[in-house]
Amino acid sequence: MPFYAAPNHPKLPFDPPDSITVGDFMLDENYGRHPLGYSRPMFTCGMTGKEYSALEVRERVDYLARGLAKELGWSPNSGSEWDKTIGVFSVNTLDTVPLAWATHRLGGIQTPANAAYSAAELAYQLKNSGAKCLFTCLPLLATAKEASKEAGIPDDRIYLLDVPEALSGGLKKPNGMKTVDDFISQGAKLDRLEPLNLGPGGGATRTAFLCYSSGTSGLPKGVMISHRNVIANTLQITVHEQAARKTRQQPATQSDYTETALGLLPMSHIYSLVVICHASVYRGDQVVVLPKFEFAQTLEAVQKYKIATLFLVPPIIILMTKNKPLLDKYDLSSVWAIFTGAAPLGEETATELVKLFPNWSVRQGYGLTETCTVVCATLPEDIWFGSSGPILPGVECKIVTTEGKEVTGYDQPGELLVKSPSVVLGYLNNDKANAETFQNGYMHTGDEAVIRKSPNGIEHIFIVDRIKELIKVKGHQVAPAELEAHLLTHPAVNDCAVIQVPDEKSGEVPKAFVVKSPSVGIEENNRVVARSIQKHVEEHKARYKWITGGIEFIDEIPKSPSGKILRRFLRDKEKETRRKQ
Ligand code: AMP
Repeated sequence: MPFYAAPNHPKLPFDPPDSITVGDFMLDENYGRHPLGYSRPMFTCGMTGKEYSALEVRERVDYLARGLAKELGWSPNSGSEWDKTIGVFSVNTLDTVPLAWATHRLGGIQTPANAAYSAAELAYQLKNSGAKCLFTCLPLLATAKEASKEAGIPDDRIYLLDVPEALSGGLKKPNGMKTVDDFISQGAKLDRLEPLNLGPGGGATRTAFLCYSSGTSGLPKGVMISHRNVIANTLQITVHEQAARKTRQQPATQSDYTETALGLLPMSHIYSLVVICHASVYRGDQVVVLPKFEFAQTLEAVQKYKIATLFLVPPIIILMTKNKPLLDKYDLSSVWAIFTGAAPLGEETATELVKLFPNWSVRQGYGLTETCTVVCATLPEDIWFGSSGPILPGVECKIVTTEGKEVTGYDQPGELLVKSPSVVLGYLNNDKANAETFQNGYMHTGDEAVIRKSPNGIEHIFIVDRIKELIKVKGHQVAPAELEAHLLTHPAVNDCAVIQVPDEKSGEVPKAFVVKSPSVGIEENNRVVARSIQKHVEEHKARYKWITGGIEFIDEIPKSPSGKILRRFLRDKEKETRRKQ
């Protein structure tokens, strides 16, 4: 029997609709969103102040869809969604998510890529997803072009999203390269598009976003996220937070309970995409968009736009606790909540932060790309540091031991299994991973959890360990299998295994155990070989994947009889070495 984490668990106001697009849900008032005409500006640039109201966004999405239809020769009901996949490789912009809604209007898919990717990493995603065109921004154009060439996307199918001039480093838009604004101006002069007909239940079976995650093992895989998945989690978050919002805010000044939220985290990652750009926007919030993390600039935006909720990841919170004098230079009195996710926030760090800012409510959420985000999240009235909070409405969880036995008591660890209307359709073209991960309606998270009851009688989920092969660097996914495959292409590497090691700044970083190849002479200094291996990674992989946890040479990689790397053995060995240091 699955258990329900919160007593008197609220119900969703209605079943997540299954025949509309995400864009319809977000821009049509009939589905319960905050009235468009009375919403705050939807997206505001935290650097320049440029912004679009909710009504403007709706109009821009409509015109953009028309412009794109003409440019690409697509129409809403022609072909499958897989013929209409649009890649996005950009820092956060005001148009990133509206572009997704315009793509959805055409019956297509957005596949967002991490802006830190190298050309090879981006090319992998573009090829794997079958993207037909790519939207990028000026600072990333060179990488985007290189990757597109490799993926077979012609130069005239590369388009630009608008970023503040200060970011472009003097780069000028190449002649003839089209931008989102060009399509919008063009679209305004074109006829209305035919209505999109997803068909009954089509919103639950058709992919809206293809995000990349390595899941429990192996290389990054395309995660097929349906329209209904995003809609469901948006509703689940909204209901979970409803009571807290109404009690926390000041109705005298904010009678509609909306607020301003920080849109700093990358929109290519599910956390920002769903929690900030959908759930907050649906509730009528204003998202202050920042293209990248720059500490002082972020604080300045919080002060200037009186931001109430800061959506962050643990490394930024750690930085905050260590830089109080810098924080003191800004008026941060508008902040009432810090929401963290994507990686564990240590109890000590949370405690330290509230010591510095006693009025802040430091909340943690837990989720995955594969659950189309939030599974559980702490609520302001029942904060418990270290906890990831009670489950959201409509979510069912089980905890299962390695022997497959379901745990029914408190404080007993096992793998967390999740059932929810937000659990995704599966991995693209990967039957094996699908069979392993999605079983009997439950998603196997690969995370180890326990349940504990708070003094208020509310059941909380604590994530206590990660069973799966995944490293989380500053909240970004690093797949050990990807790094291992790359390390093996270095001539000095005969065999290798990559694990995570703790890191104060990034949470975790990769460390490689390497068996040197016989061709490496004994006279060759280990430090020189290690450096050369690290450089090999630095030249081809995004910075957050670099092997900053070091390289250790060993004689043999421990493996099971079937050849599987015994990572637990290496992790224990590493822990022991660190304990002795
Ligand atoms: P992603 O798909 O990139 O969001 O990564 C999901 C994984 O991040 C989860 O399976 C966890 O391993 C980790 N994660 C996310 N949120 C938390 C959290 N609050 N505490 C611990 N781990 C987390």
